Amino acid sequence: MTQTRSAADDLVRLLGPDRVFHDEATREAYARDATPLFHRRPDVVVTPASTAEVAEVVRYAAETGTPIVPRGAGSSLCAGAVALAGGISLVLTKMDAILEVSRPELLAVVQPGVTTIALDEAAGAQGLMFAPDPGSRTVSTIGGNIATCAGGLRGLKYGVTRNYVLGLEAVLGTGEVIRTGGRLVKDVAGYDLTRLFTGSEGTLAVITEATVGLLPRPAAAGYGLAYFGDLAGASTAVDAIVGAGILPATLEFLDNTCIRAVEDFAVLGLDVTAGALLLFGDDGDPATVERTVARMAEVCSSVPSCREVTLAADVAAADALLAARRCSLPALARLGTLTLLEDVSVPRPRMPEAVARIADIAARYGITMGTFGHAGDGNLHPTAVVDADDPAAVEAAHSAFAEVFRLAIDLGGTISGEHGIGAAKLPYLGARLGETHLGVLRRVKAAFDPAGILNPGKLGS
Ligand SMILES: Cc1cc2nc3c(=O)[nH]c(=O)nc-3n(C[C@H](O)[C@H](O)[C@H](O)COP(=O)(O)OP(=O)(O)OC[C@H]3O[C@@H](n4cnc5c(N)ncnc54)[C@H](O)[C@@H]3O)c2cc1C
Repeated sequence: MTQTRSAADDLVRLLGPDRVFHDEATREAYARDATPLFHRRPDVVVTPASTAEVAEVVRYAAETGTPIVPRGAGSSLCAGAVALAGGISLVLTKMDAILEVSRPELLAVVQPGVTTIALDEAAGAQGLMFAPDPGSRTVSTIGGNIATCAGGLRGLKYGVTRNYVLGLEAVLGTGEVIRTGGRLVKDVAGYDLTRLFTGSEGTLAVITEATVGLLPRPAAAGYGLAYFGDLAGASTAVDAIVGAGILPATLEFLDNTCIRAVEDFAVLGLDVTAGALLLFGDDGDPATVERTVARMAEVCSSVPSCREVTLAADVAAADALLAARRCSLPALARLGTLTLLEDVSVPRPRMPEAVARIADIAARYGITMGTFGHAGDGNLHPTAVVDADDPAAVEAAHSAFAEVFRLAIDLGGTISGEHGIGAAKLPYLGARLGETHLGVLRRVKAAFDPAGILNPGKLGS
């Protein structure tokens, strides 16, 4: 408590009382992110309003050896935003200005606390769009999206956050401020630090401003739904769609556990007897969208285990289909008191094998596990729902996931497609990268954060 008070007193002297909080309620409010089972109160919560203030706090942290954890909306699913070593929770949501949207240059300049949806809406007002589309976009911040290289529902056609980060302003672990990249389409002066900071999970620098690429907003979007006897059938359809030369904006799937949970939660009229559901969609000019969606429906119908294909007749129907996918997590969460959502990626052709073997693993451990995900990207979210008061069940879920990570690696995949490593996945990172690679990460971190204060216990530790 003394340490808490003295850091807080020092920070109040630097920034004034309006930006620094160390009361129990505020510290508890920032003790978690969206990852269950990870909890630690920061000693002090700081809400800077400018890059200069961020730099002052980081310099203070470096001088005193105080851990400092950058934080956006706290929607991390791998405990990335939890201050596991205590210290300062640096909350960037007050820096939420959209500084510029340039239609001729197809870019925006924003502060890190802008929400993903606010940026997309501001772009939309000028006939543009911000393509990265994480399921959390109504709350997640651009700083958090960049720090995690967030993916989402449009990855196959549009890529992920890294494909849209043109330049950054960042405060290093020393308190120094640098700018990387910028508004240029082409710029190869120096190492690509923009790309390095993207996905660095708050361990190398604090992002204080970002220049991001925008695209012309598609005039139309269309969606359809196909039901299959099993998840392997849906995966086969995904392969067949891409194999037919179609690159759709949306290819999302739900297994039977998810279909039943979503129907129970949202009452959308889904077929709860189907083994799997594939939501497919595209955007672009209306005639092309109509043709592509019809062609995807045809391809789905040709898969032997396909039971039924329907097309969304209008925007409301399309929104209902998307809502079905977006509410998978809250729907599953109602099945138990503890929901453990995971995130692995495999090469797309290995998906049928991956989903079948994940189901076997869950059955062997006797746990309820629903799988949904970004099928077009080979990105799966197996989600275990267990009783929080049953330690054996929680342990079984952890053991099952350890096998799922091993399986993903064995299939040529990875332990996280989009949520990041944070603290939750750190024990598995060596299996994915190997010791030599981990050593390089540590040396990279030391170059940007010599005092080791930025988000300690995570990447590069
Ligand atoms: C319901 C739900 C759905 C989701 N769907 C998706 C999805 O489809 N795709 C996907 O990729 N993720 C998804 N996520 C995970 C999460 O929303 C993303 O990782 C998101 O990018 C985190 O943004 P945030 O602002 O909440 O960051 P936080 O959770 O606050 O922080 C995440 C990480 O970024 C660091 N960080 C935050 N801001 C900065 C900054 N300014 N500078 C440096 N480091 C910073 C933190 O230290 C931490 O390591 C979902 C989460 C939920 C709860």
